[in-house]
Amino acid sequence: MNQPSRRLSGIAAAPGIAIGRAHLIDRRRVKTPKRHLEASEVAAELDRLDGAIAASDQQLERIKKKLREREGQDHFRIIEAHQLILHDEHLVGPTRRRVQEELVNAEWALRRTVEEIKSVFDSIEEDYFRERRSDIDFVGDRILRNLLGEQGEVVGTPPAGTIVIAHDLSPADTAQLHRAGCVGFVTDAGGKTSHSAILARAFELPAVVGLEHATTKIPAGALVVVDGLTGEVVINPTAEELAEFRARVRRHGDLVGELLRDRDVPAETGDGVRVQLYANVELTEEVPSAIEHGAEGIGLYRTEFLFLDRTDLPLEEEHFMHARGVLRRLAPFPATFRTCDLGGDKIAPLVSIEHEANPALGLRSIRLCLRERELFKTQLRGLLRASAHGKARIMFPMISGVGELRAAKAILSEAKAELRAEGVAFDEEIPMGIMVEMPSAAMTADLLARECDFLSIGTNDLIQYSLAIDRVNEHVGYLYHPLHPAILRTVRYVVDAGHAAGVQVTMCGEMAGEPLFTLVLCGLGLDGLSMNATSIPVVKNIIRASTMADAKQLAEQLLQLATVEEIEARVHAEMTRRFSPDLLRASAEFGRLPA
Ligand code: PEP
Ligand code: MG
Repeated sequence: MNQPSRRLSGIAAAPGIAIGRAHLIDRRRVKTPKRHLEASEVAAELDRLDGAIAASDQQLERIKKKLREREGQDHFRIIEAHQLILHDEHLVGPTRRRVQEELVNAEWALRRTVEEIKSVFDSIEEDYFRERRSDIDFVGDRILRNLLGEQGEVVGTPPAGTIVIAHDLSPADTAQLHRAGCVGFVTDAGGKTSHSAILARAFELPAVVGLEHATTKIPAGALVVVDGLTGEVVINPTAEELAEFRARVRRHGDLVGELLRDRDVPAETGDGVRVQLYANVELTEEVPSAIEHGAEGIGLYRTEFLFLDRTDLPLEEEHFMHARGVLRRLAPFPATFRTCDLGGDKIAPLVSIEHEANPALGLRSIRLCLRERELFKTQLRGLLRASAHGKARIMFPMISGVGELRAAKAILSEAKAELRAEGVAFDEEIPMGIMVEMPSAAMTADLLARECDFLSIGTNDLIQYSLAIDRVNEHVGYLYHPLHPAILRTVRYVVDAGHAAGVQVTMCGEMAGEPLFTLVLCGLGLDGLSMNATSIPVVKNIIRASTMADAKQLAEQLLQLATVEEIEARVHAEMTRRFSPDLLRASAEFGRLPA
């Protein structure tokens, strides 16, 4: 008998449509036995704990290795982060002490320690910390399963082509699912910024998270559609629903195949103006995808991801190896390394930031780096050393004015002087630029441009600060308008100021990757756009099918309009007149059919 079709709605974590049979994974916590030890048993119990930690480490190492073989990738930082947690003194120390002093078995001691660490995270009202709680859980679970002789593997190898339904998934699980050929996943827990979601996006695995009761509502074996763009999950779709999703996936596949044929041609308008298209990247794992999609380099490398989810600060050598790895993979293209942009919603447990009433306006980003000079210089030295191995550029985030730029440059100069004195090679001509993401920087763009090599407009924050809209507050999301007259005017002003000073002006916020805006942005005079790699083929297609004369005319018209509504209507009319709806949606929507 046919089951009725049902829809669930969750958090869209990784775009794309996946259609497949549900494969349920029991990822709930393992039962923990409690046992009292005799004093004579303590040494053996500690050995057992060490053995389980070592086994867990080996399992994670194997996962990393298999991924490297399959993906040709160096390593998975997130899995490495779990390996670091495995050996962390805060986890291992108290567990050992409990075994020794309370005379309890290793499983119980470990569970108590994990709960204790989690309760510290619980008291912090930040999504980031709540999600890091899961990392502690995943590691604790793995050790526990090894102590219990369960091999630590939770997800096993689900059949290829299935959609995994789980309470929660660790980044290691996600990587394993990808390797097993699963086409998507759905979880009860999780958020958009959880590392599993980040990996899902890097693997282009459609995912919906935070559904709360997916594991009880979705029967094993049911046919499921995951729409990672809208956050919808359809259980037992009707024939019509299925046909519609399949048609969307097919149309998209054809379109992307066609667009990718132009991978190696330049983004040049019909009247011969070149626009550089770059990729925004968070993890080294995304570099191959950037190249596959035709990026001419990385316009924004969010280096702060190196700081997240770990228990120690990266050393200079790690910054160096990491950046060198990126440059080698990317050669001959350039990579723009944005220096550490922590704070706001990106919090690393290692850098202590006092509680702030307004984190977005607080001690974040370059402000934090200028306070934590050693942390900053360590990163700069690593990046400079890597610049001897490829085309690197350095970019400072959240610069508010010339004073701050000079302060950051002074530390860069110090780092250079030290390396010179040590006889260490680096690119003496390494370009240095800033992100323009605050009104104060935009208004002084002419002054800033005289003292740096390039400007990159970060619209995610620029819109937040210009329109006074918290970018992570869903209640004011309706006011977040990239096409606000104030934003268009600001972009025009920054572009003109940069050009007058003879420096390149690019854009690297999400706005740069929205195909609807491509013509407007070209018309405003931006020299390059940096975006999610999957947007590049569409944006390039639009540029190649347009002329700069048309783009400029459109931009001029828009700059005369008074309201967001008028501008949006004009842009929409112009773009839908010129391009098909499938093309305009194509960057966000890709899909997979069952194997
Ligand atoms: C921006 O603010 O536009 C930007 C690209 O930086 P992030 O999104 O990392 O804050
Ligand atoms: Mg920003």
